[in-house]
Amino acid sequence: MNKVSPFLIVYALIFLAPAAQAKVEVVATTPDFGSIAAEIGGSRASVTTLAKPTEDPHFVRLNRADAVVEGGAELEIGWLPALLDQSRNPRLAPGAAGRISCSQGISLLQIPATLDRSRGDIHAAGNPHFMTDPQNAKIVAEHIASAFCQLDPKSCDSYRANLGKFTAELESKSAEWEKVLAPFKGQRIVAYHDTWPYFARRFGLNIDLFLEPRPGIPPTPVHLAEVVSRMKADHIHVILVEPYQNRKTAEAVAADTGAIVVDVAQFPGGVKATEKGYIELMDFLVNSVAKALAEGKK
Ligand SMILES: [Zn+2]
Repeated sequence: MNKVSPFLIVYALIFLAPAAQAKVEVVATTPDFGSIAAEIGGSRASVTTLAKPTEDPHFVRLNRADAVVEGGAELEIGWLPALLDQSRNPRLAPGAAGRISCSQGISLLQIPATLDRSRGDIHAAGNPHFMTDPQNAKIVAEHIASAFCQLDPKSCDSYRANLGKFTAELESKSAEWEKVLAPFKGQRIVAYHDTWPYFARRFGLNIDLFLEPRPGIPPTPVHLAEVVSRMKADHIHVILVEPYQNRKTAEAVAADTGAIVVDVAQFPGGVKATEKGYIELMDFLVNSVAKALAEGKK
């Protein structure tokens, strides 16, 4: 009998299959930008996120990517420039259409009047955690859609349609989120790191006391004692902690003050049930913070 050679089958699959439309290859630095790039790109783009930027497969992706989506504002300054240099990919060079910097168009908070890196502050270009405000996510989505249209004009209608869908959902959810947090206007919350000024401003909260004495400087006993006494004096009952921060430190402060420790993340997938994307992450954040503020008061 005539057995079809397996090699022939593989050959047929590779060469005879209907040619898929070439996708725009996009690399995002972090999952917040990656999730929005995937929403806008839809079926026309293939988005990889550099969750572990030093891994080889990711590096290979940078070599052949059509676009890189970065936060800018020095968020990735410690590692991205070197990776991009090594990738020798002219499509990702500064000023190229494929270099998509999400902080463009965002008004950054906390831009220092004078630059003083000697104090170890890692927010030297202003606070880079701007994605915690859904209105900033909207600006970023518009920016990504324009950049994709420039890179791949024939799919622009599709990118614009995806943007419309994402923005409509974001607007309707934002109204819902404002309602959920409205009863807590003006309340104070402690955070491990100064990740939340944009979130706080949007929802009328005060997240202005931190376990870190300065952004990026680990907590010290003297500073923590100060935080504890301010929490007691000002009746602050909630501490936000992110997955890569030292939860034990937050728990110790909570034990001294009777506060609740809330696990949050600034990136989709950083905490459970937020893997789907940006809107799921914001949903989780708003509801976790509201629940803790309601419980903390009791
Ligand atoms: Zn920071």
